[in-house]
Parts: sequence; structure tokens; C-alpha cells
Amino acid sequence: MSERRPSATRRGYGETWRRFRRWYLKLHPVCAHCGRGASEVDHIVPLSEGGAHLDPGNSQALCKGCHSRKTRAEQDGGKLKGCRADGTPIDAGHWWHE
Ligand SMILES: [Zn+2]
Repeated sequence: MSERRPSATRRGYGETWRRFRRWYLKLHPVCAHCGRGASEVDHIVPLSEGGAHLDPGNSQALCKGCHSRKTRAEQDGGKLKGCRADGTPIDAGHWWHE
């Protein structure tokens, strides 16, 4: 069970984050997914799931397209969809596996 910490997503997006972002994009000017020019810094593990903020180890440079695709996937619950041939869900965290 992961505890919900809604305040974590609101915390820390001020001046420090903007400076970190600028510094990180200078070091990593290229999108980690598609190789186009990166314009955003993304948390690899979302803050809402306990990922570290302002940590280069939990950051990746993304272009706008890849970032919004990832954000959309996370808003879908970050779950893998669909099932295997035997009918069990692909997502190992699905309640069917409990
Ligand atoms: Zn990209």
C-alpha cells in the first residue's frame, strides 16, 4: 500500500525548481525518449509516488510531446492495460493477482 501525499505534488515548484530545470536542460538538451530537443524536465518516479524532487537521479529531459504522453499515462493510473492470453491482467499489481 502506498500512502497518498497530495501535498508533495504542490510543494517545490517555485524558483528553486525553475533554476534546477534550467541547469538540468543545459546538461541534457535532448529528449530521453525520442532524441528531439528537450524542453521539460520530468520526474522519472512521480512525486505522488514518493519520487525525489530536485534530484538529477530522478529526472529526465523530455520534449513536450513525450512529456505530455507520459503525464497522460500517469493520469490513467499508471497501470498496464489489457490481459494475457490466459485472461489474467498484465498489470502485476491488479487485484486479481492478490
Ligand atoms: Zn521526445
